Amino acid sequence: MSDSTIVRDEAGLLERIQAPEGAGREIPDAATRDVIGRAPVHTVEDLDAAVARARKAQPGWDALGHEKRTEMLLAAADAIDANAEALARLLSREQGKPLNGPNARFELGACSAWLRTAATTVLEPEVIIDDGEAHAVLHYRAAGVVGAIGPWNWPLMITIWQIGPALRMGNTVVVKPSDYTPLSVLALLAVMNEALPENVLIGISGDGAVGARLAAHPEIDKVMFTGSTATGRKIIEGSAGNLARLTLELGGNDAGIVLPGTDAKAIAEDLFWGAFINTGQTCAALKRLYVHDSIYEEVVEALAEFAVRMPMGNGLDEVNVLGPLQNKAQFDIVSGLVDDARANGGRVVTGGSPASELGELFYPITIVADVVDGVALVDKEQFGPALPVIRYHDVEDAIASANRLDVGLGASVWGDRDEARRVAARIQSGTVWINSHGGVHPMIPFGGVKSSGYGLEFGVEGLKSVAVPQIING
Ligand code: NAD
Repeated sequence: MSDSTIVRDEAGLLERIQAPEGAGREIPDAATRDVIGRAPVHTVEDLDAAVARARKAQPGWDALGHEKRTEMLLAAADAIDANAEALARLLSREQGKPLNGPNARFELGACSAWLRTAATTVLEPEVIIDDGEAHAVLHYRAAGVVGAIGPWNWPLMITIWQIGPALRMGNTVVVKPSDYTPLSVLALLAVMNEALPENVLIGISGDGAVGARLAAHPEIDKVMFTGSTATGRKIIEGSAGNLARLTLELGGNDAGIVLPGTDAKAIAEDLFWGAFINTGQTCAALKRLYVHDSIYEEVVEALAEFAVRMPMGNGLDEVNVLGPLQNKAQFDIVSGLVDDARANGGRVVTGGSPASELGELFYPITIVADVVDGVALVDKEQFGPALPVIRYHDVEDAIASANRLDVGLGASVWGDRDEARRVAARIQSGTVWINSHGGVHPMIPFGGVKSSGYGLEFGVEGLKSVAVPQIING
């Protein structure tokens, strides 16, 4: 940890970033619905001023050079670690995910780990030709000012995914968090800013209109966007004006295929977390599971047995590993899709109606068997704790089902590894996991195909995506 790192508790963090008494927008605790604090409401004019400051700061930040920037970004990672518990508590209340399990503390751990990797990963110039006559080298330069727009499900980790590589490459960044989770993101930026020069990293808290302005701003060179496919399309339209380069991490509807001969009990835990990490509110979570006829009932049963043992409740209670839906709109989508699936022949094996005894936005883990392609719970991204399990007879049909939707973020195949790899090669998605689902690594590139977006994050590819190429020829 750097000597200068300041450590604050949750109240101290809030004090640092929230709007004055009587101003701003009240942000509820996802579990209790009590007010946590007041998010500043920035306007389009505030955004313009922020972009101007980031533009002015960019040449100086770039000129510091990689080594100095690495040092500062590592100090920012130390500052995150030093404040991790307070940030995790704020995240848990605002987003809803529990402190414990693969949740809030885990997210904070990922933030500093990803930032350290981005800070220390090297992107070398590439010699294209050097044959005595021609000499050309491809260099990667800072793009300029990056706009980072994020969602509410993994708000801190995704912000780091967007800004770590961008800062490393010499860009300055303006961040626009989701209006559902602004406080924890602004707190994260405030902590990092204790280690960074002024105006290199600026947070702006506003609604979709502020996001739209950021994406289309004439002084923005690159947009890192993570969110829904519908908003991604609007970002593309916005970029017609500024020609900003785009990385779009959009929605998914990840399929899993369980091959015949697979031991249901042995995979139940990994299947469970693949589907229900963050109570299912994860872009690359398992969202529809295709299971071979011969082991269908065993897999459904093993999953349901595991599900009922996982405690759900207020995230600040250490016993819980599952929390509420983050917001009412998402709660309504999930409960509507489960009701529809039931009305269309789905057999609810566990869960299936709101867990009102836990609070307004709690919905239990819900496994729905005997559903088929075409039912909305299968075809739409439910983004919550409901998993449809679909029976198949022939693996060709399962592959066709996995590929029939216009999204391709992640997928998984479960069973014999060689056979699973052969099946994986035929699935149209950015990542296919074998015998697991959803794990990410800071050096393994991640990104979607089809309507799940384009561009890659993480590792060397992630650095390239926030740079502009320049050929020095001669
Ligand atoms: P969203 O698209 O509603 O919002 C994302 C962000 O865009 C928010 O900050 C929002 O304020 C902003 N925004 C809204 N309108 C805008 C506009 N016109 N121009 C610019 N910005 C605008 O998404 P969400 O509901 O916050 O997140 C859930 C979605 O995100 C799901 O579809 C999920 O799959 C996807 N997601 C994808 C990934 C990935 O890596 N591919 C990761 C997490 C979430």
